[in-house]
Amino acid sequence: MQAPVELAPDVFWVGHTLGDDAFQLHAYLIRHGQQSVLIDPGSLVTIEHTLAKVQQVVDLDDIAWIVCHHPDPDVAGALTPLSDVLTRPDVQLVTEWRGDALLKHYRHRFPSYRVERHGWELPLGDGRTLEFQFSPYLHFPGAFVTYDPVSATLFSSDIFGGFVDDPSMLVCNDPDTVVEAVRPFHQHYMPSGALLRASLQRMQQRWPDIARVAPQHGYVFEGAAVGPTFAALEQVQCGLFVQESADHDLQRFLQVAEGRAELQRSIMRTAGVASWLGAVNGVIARTGLAEGCDMIVFIPNVGWRRWGWSVDGVPAPYPTGPDVVLLPGQPLAAVQLLGAADSHAIAELRSLVLEFSDVLHPLVDALVRQHQHADTVDHLRQVSETDPLTGCQNRRGLMEHPPTGAYGLLAIDIDHFKQVNDSEGHQAGDRCIVTVARVLRECLRRSDVVYRIGGDEFIVVLPSADLDRTMEVAERCRQAVGNVPCLDDAEPVTLSIGATAISTARPVSLQEAIGAADSALYQAKRNGRNQIATATPLSHH
Ligand code: GH3
Ligand code: MG
Repeated sequence: MQAPVELAPDVFWVGHTLGDDAFQLHAYLIRHGQQSVLIDPGSLVTIEHTLAKVQQVVDLDDIAWIVCHHPDPDVAGALTPLSDVLTRPDVQLVTEWRGDALLKHYRHRFPSYRVERHGWELPLGDGRTLEFQFSPYLHFPGAFVTYDPVSATLFSSDIFGGFVDDPSMLVCNDPDTVVEAVRPFHQHYMPSGALLRASLQRMQQRWPDIARVAPQHGYVFEGAAVGPTFAALEQVQCGLFVQESADHDLQRFLQVAEGRAELQRSIMRTAGVASWLGAVNGVIARTGLAEGCDMIVFIPNVGWRRWGWSVDGVPAPYPTGPDVVLLPGQPLAAVQLLGAADSHAIAELRSLVLEFSDVLHPLVDALVRQHQHADTVDHLRQVSETDPLTGCQNRRGLMEHPPTGAYGLLAIDIDHFKQVNDSEGHQAGDRCIVTVARVLRECLRRSDVVYRIGGDEFIVVLPSADLDRTMEVAERCRQAVGNVPCLDDAEPVTLSIGATAISTARPVSLQEAIGAADSALYQAKRNGRNQIATATPLSHH
């Protein structure tokens, strides 16, 4: 292209396309009378062609400002010849201090207009003020971009720069084509996707109405293409991230960084330690060096406990072994690697885990808290279901864990217990109740359970016992208690017992079973005490 291209009123492309160069150079000119601006003038190779175009639009003496977005030779090499060609004495070089430090090496004569000293603005007069935005490390530490509010044009320097297939095509409003052209350039020249996104977002926030983007390389794009192209570029991963396969240490560095970020995210939105553990496992698994891991944590006053895919706080031995990574700090905790390929993989993962152990500690804390909380709840439940006098379960214990399937049930009451209290005293009565409970337990199998459900009343549940067996046990209990003196010099107490048995063929509720045993007990009392009576529950079926 031998002629300047007017992109917008008074905004001109004055670049030069080298033959056989996908990396074409764009220079731009803002025509503004005696305050005209030359943006990123170009290199020693292109400046001659650029000046020829500039002169088709303005007098060289109209140029008062040269913007250099960064000090690369393709942007600023032209400063050397421009020092001679531009004869007007007050031309200034618009730059940022980091660029300025290098630009002087082009041996130019222009004084600097440092954007950071002028509020990141350049007033041109007559209602036009250029605005600048710092875009650090994209791809120079002090890089910045320029916005012209009059034409709503963003001169984006290297951002949106790209390699183009057809250098004769300057404007492309297809976001996909633009981003495919800029992707490799950004991957290689921009240090990180996060920095790129931050700068893009800052530009969009500051200038929501950008009508046109004019980069130093690649395509100019306009109008409806602007928004989608910004959005697409925000998705491009840059710099280190695309080189990761090249360098082993770098790869681990990235895994640590990504793992850390992922774990931090899962801390913030944690739906519980399970999803948190899942995130840790995901980080380990994605390395390809192991299948996952368990967490082993020391719970104070409890001991070591293990959490993992199929285990949830189960007791564990002291964590040790080649695949165990002890975490530094408190509380004591370890990561046990699962399915690690070999000792090399373990060594690799060991350093990985140690490098983000600080992010694992909140998980460890949560596991400790969760376990202690569960322990407290367990303890409270146990207390609330236990009779403090005898250590038997109480009525709540029976109601909370009703027997299932077939079972025998005894309702037991001490005969004339009031008399024990009256003659021996209440404390002696207590000891008598404790003795009866102990003797009852001694008469039973381990799976049978004694409940103390009232002052001198007990219920015994005999899992899977039929009525015969229930009667047998009842008789054994009656005799045993009758033979043991509950108090030193007193007669043994006797028991009245109501017995019933529930079969799976005729299931009834626990209430109904107890009701039947109680009415049998009442019958035993009426029949003269110290004996057993039976009843069959009335089924509601
Ligand atoms: P019966 O043969 O009809 O059962 O006569 P009983 O005297 O045993 O009468 P009942 O079972 O109705 O009375 C139980 C008594 O047990 C009433 C109460 O004073 C006493 N008691 C209830 N709880 C306790 C306790 O925790 N300790 C002591 N020492 N006595 C209790
Ligand atoms: Mg009684």
